[in-house]
Amino acid sequence: MDYSAFFSNALDGLRQEGRYRVFADIERVAGAFPRARYHDGERVRDVIVWCSNDYLGMGQNDKVRQAMHRSIDLSGTGAGGTRNIAGTNHSHVLLERELADLHDKEAALLFTSGYVSNWAALSTLAAKLPNCVVLSDAGNHASMIEGIRHSRAEYRIFKHNCPDDLARCLREVEPDRAKLVAFESVYSMDGDIAPIAELCDVAEQYDAMTYLDEVHAVGLYGRRGAGIAERDGVMNRLTIIQGTLGKAFGVIGGYIASSAPVIDFVRSFASGFIFTTALPPMLAAGALASVRHLKESQWERKAQQDRVRLLRERLDDRGIPHRANPSHIVPVMVGDPVKCRTVANRLLDDFDIYIQPINYPTVPRGTERLRLTPSPLHSRGDIEQLVEALDEVWEQTGLARAPRTRVKMPQAAPAHAWRPKEPAMCTACRQLLAMSSDRAMLEAHPRA
Ligand code: PLP
Repeated sequence: MDYSAFFSNALDGLRQEGRYRVFADIERVAGAFPRARYHDGERVRDVIVWCSNDYLGMGQNDKVRQAMHRSIDLSGTGAGGTRNIAGTNHSHVLLERELADLHDKEAALLFTSGYVSNWAALSTLAAKLPNCVVLSDAGNHASMIEGIRHSRAEYRIFKHNCPDDLARCLREVEPDRAKLVAFESVYSMDGDIAPIAELCDVAEQYDAMTYLDEVHAVGLYGRRGAGIAERDGVMNRLTIIQGTLGKAFGVIGGYIASSAPVIDFVRSFASGFIFTTALPPMLAAGALASVRHLKESQWERKAQQDRVRLLRERLDDRGIPHRANPSHIVPVMVGDPVKCRTVANRLLDDFDIYIQPINYPTVPRGTERLRLTPSPLHSRGDIEQLVEALDEVWEQTGLARAPRTRVKMPQAAPAHAWRPKEPAMCTACRQLLAMSSDRAMLEAHPRA
């Protein structure tokens, strides 16, 4: 076999479709976020980053940096082993306690990333629970899908954010089987938010366990930054809450929080936890400082929401189409992979604005977009500059405009009880109807 030709042809295919991935060589500058240095071949220039998942700029927070410096000086660099063999450092123990307290659960367990925590926890639970069926939201992240697949348990996919469809799937499962409902709170590409209370109503009705990925919500929502479940007052209804330390908390690592027996079970059986070196103590120390800070401080969350609101208003003023949602994620829709790359290149080359184009398979074909993530550290001036630049590039690229009216942002689903018989549509679908730009999804709803 001509191995080289095989690899080159596959990559050429990606290039022809306009979705070959080019990484921007960015050098983050502590204290200057969201500004960074961009290494453009031989040239280095300053750019402003508009697509970071360091949502609150905690990656440069003084307390976090100091905690990490102190930890390196005290404990050195690596953990020195797996958690079982010489790798459990006191800062891991403190961080797990802090995370359990954050989510009001008995215990928590750390992993090396959010991806690994989903993969390891879901694959272990679904494989070991007797005769388990997993009910998985159609929009779930790759890490959850891979974990579920790896378990080899039977799984069913319910329509995205749709309690009606979850109930339909659960009705078809024999009552005595173990059932695990897996979903996210904030979906990373569309920025829509799950009706958690309504999904829990259904899960409880069918005696199913629930697993909630709060990766794009921890640090950002709720009085102490525990996520959407905290904001909606439903944390106690979820069996397992999963989160990351690598986005709003600004470091790296993942975790689950749950009852003591569930955590002990995953700790004892999950190969993705057992057979890998523990997080370096300095990372646990930095994450601990970040979680503690965001439990108390409201400034970052409030300022971020303010910037998100302002950016949406300005995009509406210019007719730059963006998908309506009730979260901090602002997807600016382009709808073509080549144009999406062109817009991103022009923003970078002509305006020193870095936004990574998002193409298939991260999003469905035809919904290519620029995913904007305003932070508390983007100034109002930065927003004006971004919108001016987008306006000009939109014109040059001949992209369609949205009607110049304010898009009313849907409110998140209220934490009310779900009544299976009364509404013709669940809250999520009513929200979509209100937005009305997503006709295809609505048409897919069984009752719409
Ligand atoms: N879950 C969701 C919904 C995600 O979007 C991601 C990453 O973007 C992950 C899990 C993985 O988290 P991490 O980046 O910490 O590995």
